Amino acid sequence: MIRALFSAGDPIWPEYQTTLPPAFAKAGLSVDLSRDHAPDTVDYIIAAPNGPVQDFTPFTRCKAVLNLWAGVEDIAPNPTLTQPLARMVDPGLTDGMVEWVVGHTMRHHLGLDVHVHGQDGQWRTDYPPLASQRPVTILGLGALGTACARALIGLGFPVTGWSRSQKAIDGVTCLSGNGGLRAALTDAQIVILLLPLTNATTNILDRQTLALLAPGSFIINPGRGPLIDDDDLLTALDANVAHATLDVFRVEPLPAQHPFWAHPKITVTPHIASTTRPETAALCIAENIRRGEAGEALLHLVDRTKGY
Ligand code: NDP
Repeated sequence: MIRALFSAGDPIWPEYQTTLPPAFAKAGLSVDLSRDHAPDTVDYIIAAPNGPVQDFTPFTRCKAVLNLWAGVEDIAPNPTLTQPLARMVDPGLTDGMVEWVVGHTMRHHLGLDVHVHGQDGQWRTDYPPLASQRPVTILGLGALGTACARALIGLGFPVTGWSRSQKAIDGVTCLSGNGGLRAALTDAQIVILLLPLTNATTNILDRQTLALLAPGSFIINPGRGPLIDDDDLLTALDANVAHATLDVFRVEPLPAQHPFWAHPKITVTPHIASTTRPETAALCIAENIRRGEAGEALLHLVDRTKGY
């Protein structure tokens, strides 16, 4: 019998208590799932960074920690976590992110605000350009960035993507490295951030890189708040950046008095771009445990040296 410990907050336990057992059965696994196994009996920990297990030292036979979230910046640096760590790549989470990114991209592309907020009797007939005339750049071409790139290509946008290692994705202009970042941002009209938060990505959009964006450009950040220098963003909103749609922030919840809330060129959404969906995530967790038991390589292992 495999022992799996669920270490996450109370509110999400009932959903996983319902979805994990059938997923384990489907994977042919016999798993004793609990929230209070003795540490030295646990084979796998299904974890959220803010879950009850913060000291992983006593979990001496634990083969892997399976993170419930895609982002690992709050768990990967834990010095007691010496076990292999896998991050979450969940089709439901990906679908949600694609929908959110496409929705906010289309809002800016079509200039929907003019009509949503402009019910003033004035007959405005400015036609928006076609998607093919609106270059989009996605920073980060991982599970989420690639899925968003494919969806936006499907709508006709010319998409440039930037990642650490060079990629080849049909229809996407793939760039990498520091020189690639400059090229990816120059002339971009919509920039979408889907990078993990690491030392290398913190403040990747700062005064210098923001200045590369085309006049009237839009920023959409569902990645992590510290990817953008807040003060430099405010400066850029007075210059070349027309609007920033931000889902993530340095401090969450974003304090009620924070200037972003009232800024006319910023849209705040409360970290809802997407989330792990228990029904599909349970299948991903079960597959990784199946792999672990079969001696196969786990999926989506975090590289501690890179931080994601
Ligand atoms: P992945 O790890 O699959 O992809 C990360 C991408 O970023 C990769 O393409 C990687 O390059 C690239 N990257 C990392 N570091 C650098 C760097 N220094 N320079 C250039 N490129 C870099 O992550 P996901 O796509 O699954 O998720 C991305 C992020 O989205 C998460 O880390 C999380 O912060 C955020 N997120 C936000 C949610 C929300 O609701 N707002 C929900 C879920 C996730 P390479 O391919 O070469 O490794």
